[in-house]
Amino acid sequence: MPIVKLNCVVTFAASHFLTKYKGKCENLHGHNYKLIITIEDTVKENGMAVDFKDIKQIAEDKVLKIVDHRHLNDIIDNPSAENLAVWVWDKLKDDLPLIKLTVFETEDYYCEYEGK
Ligand SMILES: [Zn+2]
Repeated sequence: MPIVKLNCVVTFAASHFLTKYKGKCENLHGHNYKLIITIEDTVKENGMAVDFKDIKQIAEDKVLKIVDHRHLNDIIDNPSAENLAVWVWDKLKDDLPLIKLTVFETEDYYCEYEGK
């Protein structure tokens, strides 16, 4: 059966500050974060690899419930986009055939993590 990649986009709002950085981002501020969850799986008999709804539900349960409208420094040590990407990966990796996680901190700046 063919192998496909699926992408599911979810968003959340949160505050943070960087603890090992000199500049504007060491001060408390917020972002509307966007996550792109990329999985890879084989197309099954029903014509689907993984139900998009299931990906979104897992993201809701494992990530968004914890971080949405929260202060990330209370949850993740030094919550840069990079550290957030690794944290989200660890939350999702047991439930989804993840191959890439993309964290948009702003429209211009985003981090990609592939579990390495
Ligand atoms: Zn920031």
